[in-house]
Amino acid sequence: MTTTAHTPSAPLTALTAVDVAAWIRRTAELISAHADELTALDAAIGDADHGANMKRGMNAAVESLAADPDAPATVLKQTAMALISKVGGAAGPLYGTFFLRMSTSCAGKETIDAPALAEAVAAGIGGIVQRGNAESGDKTMFDAWSPALEALHSHSDGEDALADAVVAAAAAAQAGRDATEPMLAKKGRASYLGERSVGHIDPGAASTALILRALADVVTGQTADAA
Ligand code: ADP
Ligand code: MG
Repeated sequence: MTTTAHTPSAPLTALTAVDVAAWIRRTAELISAHADELTALDAAIGDADHGANMKRGMNAAVESLAADPDAPATVLKQTAMALISKVGGAAGPLYGTFFLRMSTSCAGKETIDAPALAEAVAAGIGGIVQRGNAESGDKTMFDAWSPALEALHSHSDGEDALADAVVAAAAAAQAGRDATEPMLAKKGRASYLGERSVGHIDPGAASTALILRALADVVTGQTADAA
């Protein structure tokens, strides 16, 4: 048997267009598996549509992908367009803007390594903030994105930089999601509840944690379990 430079289980060191498409597919899979949970979170402090919104949007994104995508930026742009056109409410335009800004950041690149990923995610988050004006502690998806970006920035060197970065980012987003529970919502529909928003995890922070888990799964090859 011949040996190759990368065994099937070796983590990716940079994302090709095909890998970015795998990220979008894995995100759709995880969002579908967790759609009821996202809806239950939104039922507590919103209008109970976040799971259905995200499932519809991510499935539309997967359907829009070409079988043989030519560049990471193309996949990201197609995803953005599907989310903007198929997801109503706050999350569609916010996530759509995120992927669109990521796409612009990756323009002209054949692959995305750890530093390029951090730069692209930073650009995406910049779009979320420009649209939604969220700050840390407002109990939104920003509270999951922001610690994830810090984690990406702190793992940009070394052979396993991409895997280290996305695994750390997924863990940071999950911790950020959990940290929204005691927060008082200051943005979006949940803010109408005032004090009654306290004691519930923000649904958008929960979907962001799934998006980053999907990325870590693709980079590390752990895509068997969607629970
Ligand atoms: P809607 O609230 O319109 O029903 P969704 O239920 O799909 O939309 O999405 C709600 C999520 O959107 C919230 O949990 C929150 O994370 C996110 N969100 C809402 N407003 C903002 C904002 N201004 N900035 C960042 N994220 C926001
Ligand atoms: Mg909602």
